[in-house]
Amino acid sequence: MDVEFTPEDNAFREEVRSFIAENKPAHLDGIERGDLTKEDFLAWHKTLHKKGWVAPSWPEEYGGTGWSVTQKYIWNEENAAAGTIAPLPFGVAMLGPVIYTFGNQEQKDWVLPGILSGETWWCQGYSEPGAGSDLAALKTRAVRDGDDYIVNGHKIWTTLAQYADWMFCLVRTGDSEKRQEGISFLLIDMKTPGITVRPIITIDGGHEVNEVFLEDVRVPAKHLVGEENKGWTIAKFLLGNERSGIAGVARSKKAIERLREIARGELEDGSPLMESPAFSRKIAELEVDLTALEYTELRTLASESKGQGPGPESSILKIKGTEIQQRITELTVEAVGNYAAPWVPQLERGDNYMAIGADWAEGASQTYFNTRKTSIYGGSNEIQRNIIAKMVLGL
Ligand SMILES: Cc1cc2nc3c(=O)[nH]c(=O)nc-3n(C[C@H](O)[C@H](O)[C@H](O)COP(=O)(O)OP(=O)(O)OC[C@H]3O[C@@H](n4cnc5c(N)ncnc54)[C@H](O)[C@@H]3O)c2cc1C
Repeated sequence: MDVEFTPEDNAFREEVRSFIAENKPAHLDGIERGDLTKEDFLAWHKTLHKKGWVAPSWPEEYGGTGWSVTQKYIWNEENAAAGTIAPLPFGVAMLGPVIYTFGNQEQKDWVLPGILSGETWWCQGYSEPGAGSDLAALKTRAVRDGDDYIVNGHKIWTTLAQYADWMFCLVRTGDSEKRQEGISFLLIDMKTPGITVRPIITIDGGHEVNEVFLEDVRVPAKHLVGEENKGWTIAKFLLGNERSGIAGVARSKKAIERLREIARGELEDGSPLMESPAFSRKIAELEVDLTALEYTELRTLASESKGQGPGPESSILKIKGTEIQQRITELTVEAVGNYAAPWVPQLERGDNYMAIGADWAEGASQTYFNTRKTSIYGGSNEIQRNIIAKMVLGL
């Protein structure tokens, strides 16, 4: 593919850059992700909705922007550079494409507008205790009762379910010998009686994930997406989109820039750490890997623009992207040394306290610990390697 920017692309970049500068919710600058409220998560999303720019990758007929691959790339780069809070993936990147690909007209009409406007917050009910990597082992059961399903089960690691209005959920509806053939894809209103959301506090002290218990939850059968027992195809399609989105190339570029700044400010034996050949080599290695990943992502985007969905290649993006994200946080901790250690947990926004060490050291450990998740969620990196071995390399 051609990755030269045309004058039109450069004009588009200017347009995007000024839109972001004029409309970005500046009060959210510098706030750690763990401190964001529901409104904070939605602030940029709602601004983009007004402009019609929430879902660049959707087909135009459903609310997409009709941008070229290069324009989408520029859009991601400019948002990363400005540090905006991207619309959460559960609606825009995951469920939306499922609904316009597999949903019926009624589902398209009520689900897609709520995703675009940000009015409906979706969470992902896939994993269960005992069904993570081996997702087809899931036991949450939906039994047909007249016009409804009665759902019983236990989901886990459900990201931001504490804010969710609805959950897209994998449920067992059949007992075929091939486990994948008894799974269905159901949309569940989180306000339905019988649903309990219980927080899980992670190693960085944050409340990002939850357990969701479903006890005799009555779900109208019209909220089944696709056919009963055929949900596995949809589940895999959604995971492909989830994985491509995790690569986060533009944001890693920005994070490496910040790491460079930190390394210029930190001293080692009286000289800036950035002048240490050992440390600057590590940053250079990161940049080389990131550039290689960027070109792989561009190739994927190019084939998507020709109508090919993300295939098993998205596993490569997921592995390399998350490894790079983790290496950046590791090098940040290495750069700030002891000052990464202090942890001031859960301070209320606006508290008056002195950071220990340089400002840039604050939160380095939290971010390091939090980022361990990236090689686990969206299907662990070991599982992605299995997929590559089987589906890409044909081993
Ligand atoms: C922060 C976070 C957010 C998440 N958000 C959501 C969410 O919103 N919704 C949702 O449904 N799920 C979510 N998940 C769950 C995530 O998808 C699972 O954690 C992941 O699929 C791994 O499953 P598991 O935790 O059950 O680990 P296990 O499957 O028990 O795996 C344990 C270890 O064994 C390895 N392993 C397992 N099987 C194999 C194999 N065949 N070959 C090689 N190695 C193997 C794994 O790689 C892993 O290292 C989230 C997870 C995290 C950490």
